[in-house]
Amino acid sequence: MDLRAKNLDKLDGGHFDILIIGGGINGAVSAAALSARGLSVALIDRGDFASFTSQESSNLVWGGFKYLENYELPLVWNLCSSRNRLLKAYPTQITEIDFVATLDKTAPFPALLAAVGALGYWGIGRFFTRPPKFLSAAAIEKLEPVSNTTTAKGGIRYADAYLRDNDARFVWNFVQSALDAGATAANYVKLESATQIEGKWEATLSNTASGQTASPFTVTADAIVNAAGPFVDGLNNSWDLETEHRIVYSKGIHLVVPKLTDSERVLAFFDDTGRLFYVIPMANRSVIGTTDTRTDQVDEGVTNDDRAFLLEQINARLDLDKPLTAGDIISERCGVRPLVVKSSGDDQIETDWTSLSRKHEMEIDRSKRVITLFGGKLTDCLNMGEEVMEAVEDLGFKLTAENDTWFGEPSEEARETFYAKAKSMGFGRKPKVERAESMAEVLWRRHGEAANQVLDFIESDARKGEEVIQNSDILRAEVILMRQREMITSLEDFLRRRTKLALTIGQDALDPDLANLAELLALPIP
Ligand SMILES: Cc1cc2nc3c(=O)[nH]c(=O)nc-3n(C[C@H](O)[C@H](O)[C@H](O)COP(=O)(O)OP(=O)(O)OC[C@H]3O[C@@H](n4cnc5c(N)ncnc54)[C@H](O)[C@@H]3O)c2cc1C
Repeated sequence: MDLRAKNLDKLDGGHFDILIIGGGINGAVSAAALSARGLSVALIDRGDFASFTSQESSNLVWGGFKYLENYELPLVWNLCSSRNRLLKAYPTQITEIDFVATLDKTAPFPALLAAVGALGYWGIGRFFTRPPKFLSAAAIEKLEPVSNTTTAKGGIRYADAYLRDNDARFVWNFVQSALDAGATAANYVKLESATQIEGKWEATLSNTASGQTASPFTVTADAIVNAAGPFVDGLNNSWDLETEHRIVYSKGIHLVVPKLTDSERVLAFFDDTGRLFYVIPMANRSVIGTTDTRTDQVDEGVTNDDRAFLLEQINARLDLDKPLTAGDIISERCGVRPLVVKSSGDDQIETDWTSLSRKHEMEIDRSKRVITLFGGKLTDCLNMGEEVMEAVEDLGFKLTAENDTWFGEPSEEARETFYAKAKSMGFGRKPKVERAESMAEVLWRRHGEAANQVLDFIESDARKGEEVIQNSDILRAEVILMRQREMITSLEDFLRRRTKLALTIGQDALDPDLANLAELLALPIP
């Protein structure tokens, strides 16, 4: 029986302390944190893990420099603290990265003021990153010749951090650590309905994986964590649960294009509306984004207007031989940020949409025994996990002694031992497209200690060390390992979330290798 089937079996008719609905970042960290502290946890998502908002982020792990514009000091303080802890805990997956911001006529403040702000931001971040610097237009031109500095009044360089793989894989790590700690988790399992009967929740679930139309089944739980992201209000309404907060949606898009600069820096610009947007590195590609548009729809997708806007903005701010066109786009991403507002009154939303806070809220309904997670960020994940632990204690659950095993990479010693072995097997070579010193580093970054199994597979059959898809840096042995460990039920799970190939290679270029890949993953051949 494969991993998912085993977990479905455990769900069916099972009883859990906590049922978590939603396997985006908020649900995944909750599952990892609570299972590490001794609770029996079930985690479900109606799609793949991280297949909604959490796969559409800018992949930045940051304190939110721009939130200082709205004087959100506590938010920036907490996000910086989470960023610093994440940088320490994930030395290969999360890396410090320089931002070079060019301030031209569309910038809402002068470059010198931005430099003062950057110094303040650095201080709020406990001086954890490289110090910021004021840059003249000439200095920007020298550092990043691709930036158009003709109307620039100067700029700044400051540091934050980013995810070197992708957001969805980062989420998967938390699901993996929840599973390792004994949680039951399954993707493509939808909560159809849930009723509280004599203090206990009875939930009807269905298997939504394509081609698997099993009849609905039931689990029971003592409490629910509602981590459904943009959908939290719908679930709460279905349980007649009243909350002080609710969610509104802000749409953001990204366009993935061929690499625009060789540096591993983020380029930051103000668009014509005075809002910051970026060019962010992703392996051998650049990601342009994002936008911030009010919407009532969760799944509108990238429209022609969105695309045209972003292309126009970036073309005006870069010195390219040929302007970027829609034909240069390798892939597109679109998501809605679940932003938190008070349930009563719409005044704040109507008056100042772009300054709506990005801070999260958590509400505990003690009689219904439901914890609702509103908003949040990938960067906020450790804070969120810790708050969920406090919230379940508030509901009367006893947690085992505190430990930090629910997050972080394995020890440096384990990493160095792996590097030595991998290099002795020829993986000291540079990857083709990934930004890393060596393939050894890439393998460790992607799989942690399980990367040792990749080497074992290759030792027993050298063919497993070959690349599966051209210019992907993904080895056959990795695919075999991922098939066993990562609940991959479709090619999209693999290409879009467990890896970022659908983003960096693009669907058309992947086509010739898909049959081979499907066979390795034991999926239907497309
Ligand atoms: C454009 C954009 C850029 C961003 N950039 C960054 C960034 O650079 N850095 C950063 O830190 N943050 C960033 N964010 C914010 C961050 O991505 C989100 O806050 C975060 O991913 C939200 O996670 P979540 O778990 O709350 O929601 P989601 O990821 O949406 O997860 C909720 C899950 O609940 C599931 N679900 C819903 N109903 C049911 C049901 N009935 N049964 C089972 N499952 C259900 C859904 O399928 C979904 O997977 C960005 C967001 C966007 C949109």
